[in-house]
Amino acid sequence: MSEKIKTISKEIKNPRVRIAPSPTGYFHIGTARTALFNYLVARKYNGKFILRIEDTDKERSKKEYEEDILENLKWLKLFWDEGIEVDGPYGPYRQSERLDIYEKYLKELINKGLAYYCFCTVEELEYKRQEMMSRGEAPRYDGHCRNLSQEEIEEKLKNKTPYVIRLKMPEKEIIISDLIRGKVKFNTKLIGDFIIAKGLRNPLYNFSVVVDDYEMHINYVIRGEEHLPNTPRQIAIYEAFGWEPPIFAHLPLILNPDRSKMSKRFGDVAMKDFRKKGYLPEAIINFLVFLGWHLPEKNGETINEILTLDEIIEQFDFFRIQKAGAIFNIDKLDWINAEYIERLPIDELTSYAVPFLTEKFGENILTDIEFIKKIIETHRQRIKTLAELPEIASYFFILPDYDVSLLYWQNMTKDELISNLDFIYKLFLNLDNKLFTKQQLEAIIMPEVEKRGRGNVLWPLRVALSGSKNSAGPFEIMEVLGKSETLKRIANALNKLNN
Ligand code: GLU
Repeated sequence: MSEKIKTISKEIKNPRVRIAPSPTGYFHIGTARTALFNYLVARKYNGKFILRIEDTDKERSKKEYEEDILENLKWLKLFWDEGIEVDGPYGPYRQSERLDIYEKYLKELINKGLAYYCFCTVEELEYKRQEMMSRGEAPRYDGHCRNLSQEEIEEKLKNKTPYVIRLKMPEKEIIISDLIRGKVKFNTKLIGDFIIAKGLRNPLYNFSVVVDDYEMHINYVIRGEEHLPNTPRQIAIYEAFGWEPPIFAHLPLILNPDRSKMSKRFGDVAMKDFRKKGYLPEAIINFLVFLGWHLPEKNGETINEILTLDEIIEQFDFFRIQKAGAIFNIDKLDWINAEYIERLPIDELTSYAVPFLTEKFGENILTDIEFIKKIIETHRQRIKTLAELPEIASYFFILPDYDVSLLYWQNMTKDELISNLDFIYKLFLNLDNKLFTKQQLEAIIMPEVEKRGRGNVLWPLRVALSGSKNSAGPFEIMEVLGKSETLKRIANALNKLNN
């Protein structure tokens, strides 16, 4: 028997979409991508975005993970309209608080004879599994407990015989009209009577997800492709209840550059690790949207790929989501992040950067926030992530320690070196503090620098100021440090040389 096939409409109407993360691990880059696409659908097509926490797996669910999920969604600015914390008309939005609801619906299916208690032991099931496999069949439950008599069931329940609850799976073909993948067919015979609960108050994912999506009026289920095999099971549950299933859309897999499936093996897949590395939420969002989606093509024109969340909403068209796997290219993320570090308004960038700096140099540095802003301004074009900032800018906070030999440019003599630094010191000593800007300093020093040789003056000056040969240029550094700190550092270099 084949299902009546729904035609796939090229339109999204009044979407009520959700993400339903399980708090069994830290908020993941894949969940973030799913959240983003659901969020975009809600915003673009005037719908509602719902956050539900699927914590029915008591052993693996942790409060810490739930908090991590909420915190990172907020950090990405993917705010939800209904759900945990904000509430809404179809709560509670945490599955562990909905056990009465699942119990009611489980009983309904059992009473209607559409689901049943199964008392088979693990050993029995394993034995049958082996047997089926040796016959070359795909292993599935053989339906042994389908037709137990009411007395038998009651007897076993009275004796507290362990049980699970299975759905009576009708033998048929289930066809999903997936908004991204098109029609996908499943033969339920290969699935068999699967377990929907381990007890009346212990539903499993496929069951609770259907009950909740139905109760919460979710009409588009948009999630990762790894859930595709669950979909025929969920449709069978909708059908058992006589409910209209939502429209499904399975987002393409996220792949490693070698096209293998992205997993924890890849490394930093937890969002908190991307944060710790100094990626900005704007950059992550911008990067994630291109994991499976693209802008409209314009012949020959370069398209600006740096988009804010608002610009993405404006450009978004659901039907440009691709079927093919999306490659996770960390170099692209680095590029986008560097672009945002360069472009963000300085105040915003500073608020992102401050935790990285205070972690290394202490809270005291915040007494002069203008100084901090100048440091960030000096380095924003030189870094790809904020985690690089404390290292690259450390000499602004800590008087640099360096080997005296680093002060020498090529084969200059000690006398030349001392004379050059001494000359600059004296020149600055009488200089008005107001003239301590990059341009002014350049104008004052450069004529003399040309006479003495650029390298002979600028190299030791830079090293005296930063203790490093790879720092920002000496004029930029001096502008940020100001006159008295500049003099102090040059004097320090001269001391080193005279000892
Ligand atoms: N709790 C499931 C997960 O975290 C949700 C899957 C779904 O969206 O249906 O993967």
